[in-house]
Amino acid sequence: MSGPEAKESMEEAGLITLDKYPGPAASWSALHLPCDAVSRFRLTAVLQSTARCPVCDEQITPKVAE
Ligand SMILES: [Zn+2]
Repeated sequence: MSGPEAKESMEEAGLITLDKYPGPAASWSALHLPCDAVSRFRLTAVLQSTARCPVCDEQITPKVAE
């Protein structure tokens, strides 16, 4: 996945990334829109719906077509 695609996937999951794409398995600083807090998330975990916001404890799930 390219940087812009990765960024878009994060945005669809409600995360506004703040840094350059570090790679799928690295933690990435992002603003979690529902709680307006910055945390670190791994893209792979976001795509697999296993990521959780440590601030509001909401599960991070990518938008998927049903
Ligand atoms: Zn949150």
